Amino acid sequence: MFKTHSCGALRPQDVGKSVTLAGWVHLRRDFGGVIFIVLRDRSGLVQVVVSGESPEETQTAAAQARSEFVIQVEGTVRQRPDNQVNPDWPTGDVEVEAHAVRILNTAKTPPFYIYDDSPVDEALRLKYRYLDLRRARLQRNIILRHETVQFLRQALNSRGFLEIETPYLFKSTPEGARDYLVPSRIHPGRFYALPQSPQQLKQLLMVAGYEKYYQIARCFRDEDLRGDRQPEFTQLDLEMSFVHRDDVLDLIEEIFAELIPAVTPQKHVPLPFPRLSYAEALEMYGTDKPDLRFGMQLVDLTPVLERSNFRVFSATAASGGKIKGIVAPGCADYTRREIDELTDIAKREGARGLVTLAYTAGAVKGSAAKFLTEDELTATAETTGASEGDLVCIVASDAKVVAASLSALRLTFRDRLDLVDPDVVAFGWVLDFPMFERNEEEQRWEAVHHPFTMPRPNTYDEMMADPLAVLSDAYDLVCNGWEIASGSIRVHDPKIQSDIFRMLGYEEADAQARFGHMMEAFSYGAPPHGGIAPGIDRLVMILADETNIREVIAFPKTSQATDLMADAPAEVPAEQLKELHISIAEES
Ligand code: ASP
Repeated sequence: MFKTHSCGALRPQDVGKSVTLAGWVHLRRDFGGVIFIVLRDRSGLVQVVVSGESPEETQTAAAQARSEFVIQVEGTVRQRPDNQVNPDWPTGDVEVEAHAVRILNTAKTPPFYIYDDSPVDEALRLKYRYLDLRRARLQRNIILRHETVQFLRQALNSRGFLEIETPYLFKSTPEGARDYLVPSRIHPGRFYALPQSPQQLKQLLMVAGYEKYYQIARCFRDEDLRGDRQPEFTQLDLEMSFVHRDDVLDLIEEIFAELIPAVTPQKHVPLPFPRLSYAEALEMYGTDKPDLRFGMQLVDLTPVLERSNFRVFSATAASGGKIKGIVAPGCADYTRREIDELTDIAKREGARGLVTLAYTAGAVKGSAAKFLTEDELTATAETTGASEGDLVCIVASDAKVVAASLSALRLTFRDRLDLVDPDVVAFGWVLDFPMFERNEEEQRWEAVHHPFTMPRPNTYDEMMADPLAVLSDAYDLVCNGWEIASGSIRVHDPKIQSDIFRMLGYEEADAQARFGHMMEAFSYGAPPHGGIAPGIDRLVMILADETNIREVIAFPKTSQATDLMADAPAEVPAEQLKELHISIAEES
């Protein structure tokens, strides 16, 4: 046997036992005569002592061992002397007196320290990902991810769901991104598309009568990458037949309320999850993915300030814009520089400027204070709830810009003023999304969720006349300011489905070529159905207190969609291209 025990498992009750351990040299200190090796395996660390009394070869091997060498140790567990107990380690009461040390493999000096989590350039971490994965932070994250996925599987299995795999080599299943295409060798000029999600396939499983499906599914989307995006990512994809919206919402709420304390006992989940309409979310937080861990809601000041002599306000109101504000508690003493920083944040979101009112003792200060009447200043304080010491930040513009800039400021204050408890996991539902949005550049309508989403029945009749008035039966789950899941009740009527395709600008023949199989399937007794797909990467990222999903993915890609370790994407031999009937066009 290579090992009888795991390093991290040894405890005082093991004192006196003969053990064989195997792992990596985490640290080694040579005190001339006594060598201390901290041995690491997946379970943790333990101290190994090689003294002058150990056999000659053992002392030689210990002297040769270096960081990250792979070694095997035979020895006896003993109590550490009182003054050497390490209360920070679970194994800190004991150590292993080595009788034999065998070097199983040597190691080059690693490009960064494995034994601490000090910051290292991310490109270097990604190039040597297998070394980065040895470090405590990533190991913790990967284990948390495993536990999360196992919990979810179990939770769904016990509720009668079936885990069913669906193909990666498929046909375009649109989620609003570009497809990754895979050329067919046996069908020249034809391509598979990697699924942007198993959306169509899970709906077809409902038509097939499976009623409750899930899959830990990989999704592929070729889109511009941001911090929380990867070209391939993982969803808990699920679909259910014979459900209404609330059945899906209740199920997810129940499972997540159990999941979080099970995998992260220090975290707290406020229940029930608040439910907001899309319109309310925008009105109150300026975004459809609000961080619900703190208040600081946007307050509409249009009625209070629309008749102001201050032109910025009155002109905005006259042209149909909005005047809204938020209160930053205790920030009345912000300096000029701090106010400028806030203004820049608002401007980045399209605002022409930021009006600040500092309610100090006896006076209201700020850029526009002198243009507002005493009554307006008082009414502003009353409407927003601002009191002495507070700073009111006001943006006047069209509704979209007001929302975006105040939402950005709200998050800035969250971080500057430490307004949230990092151990609170605040979920919330956003409902009643619009069904369509206008892509002005391409002069066409797009589905806000995806084309398989059911329009709300009472708004559907409006579809052709007023597409913007159509609401959909889609829902998002948000968490701490991130969108963590999207889903919807689906169309199961071929007529409505083809209306929607038409609305989205697909010619009949085109819709038939792309989605004919769906419409055909719906004509064979499709049950009412709906589903959702929580993103595993984002969920684990939040639970692991990380801010980037790369930290919870074993082998992620860079923000440029490259793999720095294997150097992908890479060129391929001409022969391979020929087989695939592909020729590379000269770059223009
Ligand atoms: N397929 C959708 C997505 O990936 C989720 C769903 O509607 O179930 O966002």
